Amino acid sequence: MYNIVTCNGEGTESLQEETTEEMTEGEELGIMEKKNLDWANIGFGYHETDKRFVANYKNGAWDDGALTEDANIVMNECAGVLQYAQTCFEGMKAYTTEDGRIVTFRPDLNAQRMEDSCKRLEMPVFPQDRFIQAVTDVVAANEAYVPPYGSGATLYIRPYMFGISPVIGVRPAEEYQFRVFTTPVGPYFKGGVKPLTIKVSDFDRAAPHGTGHIKAGLNYAMSLHAIMTAHAEGFDENMYLDAGSRTYVEETGGANFLFVTKDNKVITPKSDSILPSITRRSLMTVAKDYLGLEVEERPIALEEVKDFAECGLCGTAAVISPVGKIVDHGKEIAFPSGMSEMGPVTKKLYDTLTGIQMGRIDAPEGWIHVIK
Ligand SMILES: *Cc1c(COP(=O)(O)O)cnc(C)c1O
Repeated sequence: MYNIVTCNGEGTESLQEETTEEMTEGEELGIMEKKNLDWANIGFGYHETDKRFVANYKNGAWDDGALTEDANIVMNECAGVLQYAQTCFEGMKAYTTEDGRIVTFRPDLNAQRMEDSCKRLEMPVFPQDRFIQAVTDVVAANEAYVPPYGSGATLYIRPYMFGISPVIGVRPAEEYQFRVFTTPVGPYFKGGVKPLTIKVSDFDRAAPHGTGHIKAGLNYAMSLHAIMTAHAEGFDENMYLDAGSRTYVEETGGANFLFVTKDNKVITPKSDSILPSITRRSLMTVAKDYLGLEVEERPIALEEVKDFAECGLCGTAAVISPVGKIVDHGKEIAFPSGMSEMGPVTKKLYDTLTGIQMGRIDAPEGWIHVIK
């Protein structure tokens, strides 16, 4: 007896596709035709694309996996993921470069991080080389949805894994599913950059020695109340402090902090309960090797933040989102960069890293994975 759990497209945005039934000249010639989507206005929502990858783990081994057109998942009512949230994920993007290639950015680091997440959640590792191959295959199969260069839009890639066999006594599931789907997403800074206002949260994101350093769905489930509370109070995001002493800066719900000191040093918090953002790690390399700036990863006390010149949030979605103001229980920290633009160093970091991702600036060895 199986219950069918469907994801029937509720909450998805309709795709404004303007195609006709007739074959276009490109199709007749066998040339891949881009979907005619309104790339600038698709926003950040789930749009179903044509193909996704699915592999199953049973009897102690992964099967070969395959691409499928079926966006729905059928599982038992008692599946481990449904009862005890045994699931983790990754987030990455495919870009069209200036010279028309389709690439992803440092997928080896996503593969490694997913391995780390799986081990901490007692889930089987999907081999890293197969992870990269699955991502490559899914992007290639959905090439028509990879937004064109210059549109500002990208193809978001979501690899994830979950316990699918029944679990009622608390223990790891015996069977798992690994999937990768894609969804086109619009430009993050549509209508210009708007620096964020964030609050120092009274909630904690991650416990010392907990799961803050892995990309587990459970970290997000428990952050929903905190973010809805912040939004209701008029803030864009939460700044979480270390749960142990509530003295040091950790991160937001889904992005790492990067600060610029008044003497142009780029610094980022060091903590075992922060999720190691690939964007943040890459920006630190860019700061040092491309911009010649001094960089430092160290514990950063909330108390120091008022002395910094710039603040940004780093993650795949936005690369860097500038923070204009931090509010700590009524005490305001307003950064000199203000509420209308990125600070100068933040802007240079942003331009350099997006330049590398879009193929306008030479990348360090191994950063760009060419799909086609
Ligand atoms: C995914 C994530 C980030 C950003 O990581 P990137 O690899 O740069 O996308 C930051 N913080 C949390 C909690 C995350 O889950």
